[in-house]
Amino acid sequence: MSIHRIFLVFVMGLSTGLTPVAGSASDEIVVYTARKEHLVKPLFDAYTEKTGVNIKYITDKAAPLLARLQAEGKNSPADMLITVDAGNLWQAAEKGVLAPVKSEILEQNIPTHLRDPEGRWFGLSVRARTIVYATDRVKKNELSSYENLADPVWKGRLCLRTSKKVYNQSLVAMMIAEKGEKETESVVKGWVNNLAAAPFSNDTKVMEAIAAGQCDVGIVNTYYYGRLMKKEKDLKLALFWPNQDSRGVHINISGAGVTTNANNREQAIKLLEWLSGTEAQTILVSLNMEYPANPAINADATVVAWGEFKQDQLNVAKAGELQTSAVMLMDRAGYK
Ligand code: FE
Repeated sequence: MSIHRIFLVFVMGLSTGLTPVAGSASDEIVVYTARKEHLVKPLFDAYTEKTGVNIKYITDKAAPLLARLQAEGKNSPADMLITVDAGNLWQAAEKGVLAPVKSEILEQNIPTHLRDPEGRWFGLSVRARTIVYATDRVKKNELSSYENLADPVWKGRLCLRTSKKVYNQSLVAMMIAEKGEKETESVVKGWVNNLAAAPFSNDTKVMEAIAAGQCDVGIVNTYYYGRLMKKEKDLKLALFWPNQDSRGVHINISGAGVTTNANNREQAIKLLEWLSGTEAQTILVSLNMEYPANPAINADATVVAWGEFKQDQLNVAKAGELQTSAVMLMDRAGYK
C-alpha cells in the first residue's frame, strides 16, 4: 500500500466516520497546492497554531493536481486547491472541481476583479507582469505601454519569455479582452519582429539577457526582478509601469478555492477567509515579494520601493476564458 493510499483511506475513514480516532475530520483540512511548500507551510503553521486545526497538504504542479482532483472525484481527500495563475483557477472551475463559496469576509477582503464572479476561486496574492529595462541604454520616458514594445524603435532590442508559459498566455488574453483580437495580433507580431533573441525559458533569463546587453527591454513578473536584484545588486535594470494612462499594469493572481467534493467544506471556507485577512496576507507578502490581494495590507518594503502603479481592473477570469484564443493568436503571430 502506497503512502498516498494509506493517507487516502485514512482521510476517507475519517470522513465517513468509520475511524473514530482522536482528531475528527472537523479539525483537519486537506489542501492540494501548486504553490511550493516554503510559500504555504508558514501560513498553515500559523493557522494551526491559532485554531488547532490540522492542515495536510500535497504539493505538485497545477496540471497534475487538477487531473488528480478530476480522477479522484467524490473520493478525493482534498478540501481546497491552491494554485497560481487565474487561467489555472479558471480551468479548475471549468472542470467542476471547485464549488461556489458565498462569504462576506472574502467579498470584503478580495477586490471584485481578483475573484471568480461565481465565488469558486479567490485571489490571495497579486503578481504584476511589467516592463523591465536596461537603465544605461533606455530612458524611462522612451517607454509607455506593452503595445509600444511593438514599435520598430525596439527592433532587435526586445527579449521575451516563451509563449508556452501561462503568464504570457494570460497577458495576451487580457489584451484580447480589452483591445480585441485584431489589434492584439498586430501588437504580438510587432513584438516578434522586435525580438533580439529566441524566447527564453524563464523571466530571470530575460533579465540576464538585458543585463548582458543582448537586448534592452523585456516583460517579467516583478518578484523575479526582486529575487535577481537581491542576488546581484549592481545590475543596471529597472522596472517600468506601463499603460498608466490606459488600462493599467497586467496583473495575475495566486489563489484558492474550496473543492466540490470537500469533506470539510466549513473548515476550508474558514481557512480561505483567514488567508484573505490581515495576518495571513502579511505573512504571504513577506514570503515571495508579491503584492497582497487584500488592499488593506501593505506589500513588503522592498516591493513598496518599486513604486505605486495602477493595476488593470478587468476581472482576471478573462485570462482563463480567452486562454485558447491567446494561444492560437500567438501561434499565428509566430511567437514561439
Ligand atoms: Fe512564477
